[in-house]
Amino acid sequence: MTAVKAAPFDPLAHASRLAAAAAKAGLRSEAFGEAGGVPLLALTRRTPGPRPRIYLSGGIHGDEPAPPLALLSLIEAGAFDGRATWFVCPMLNPLGLARGTRENAGGVDLNRDYRHLESPEVRSHVRWLRRQPNFDLTLCVHEDWESRGFYLYELNPDGRRSLAQPMVDAAVAVCPLDTSPVIDGREARGGIIHPPGDPAQREKWPEAIYLVAHHTRQSYTIESPSSLPLGTRVAALAAALRAALDVATRGS
Ligand SMILES: [Zn+2]
Repeated sequence: MTAVKAAPFDPLAHASRLAAAAAKAGLRSEAFGEAGGVPLLALTRRTPGPRPRIYLSGGIHGDEPAPPLALLSLIEAGAFDGRATWFVCPMLNPLGLARGTRENAGGVDLNRDYRHLESPEVRSHVRWLRRQPNFDLTLCVHEDWESRGFYLYELNPDGRRSLAQPMVDAAVAVCPLDTSPVIDGREARGGIIHPPGDPAQREKWPEAIYLVAHHTRQSYTIESPSSLPLGTRVAALAAALRAALDVATRGS
């Protein structure tokens, strides 16, 4: 039995805050599904002209409240401006967030469900994703209860200009880096993990694996350490995301 580790989180109130902030920032809100009466929100902003298409998501693990808060803070700060065309799914597991559990109300880890699509949340999300154009970059925002500092996973099969180090540099200005040689069972270097092998061979697909299989050729999953105060984690995630968006949109 896992203890409830996260502070209470009100997903319905957060959805209202997200929608209000999105409207102010010129993002369009769309509900692609719902969970327990809370909308599954997609916030989009299409900028005319040749712009990178950038996707961000958070709140897929309900015991990780910092990602949906970090995405809200970026919306409120106007980070999703005319530099790119934006696709933001800021709260993918509202019922998990309400309960403070990693899984959804049915006990499914949504971030392992992108191959078999057993949960209504992921089915709705995938249906929405299939209607979107391909993305130049995707960023999945998480937290880790076991890590000692910030770290990230990079999936960059074509060797495009990496955003890993800029994100690490920005995050360490706010919180420690996890410098362990092995993080979450995988070889890491300076807080950066390149999952070995062909991730598509895995039996259970996280969101990032699905995205790289079908929607993008460059994807990052970033993790803040849950042991730090919530405000620090939100600031670290927001700093890393800002750095990635700055580099990814430079020259556009
Ligand atoms: Zn997570």
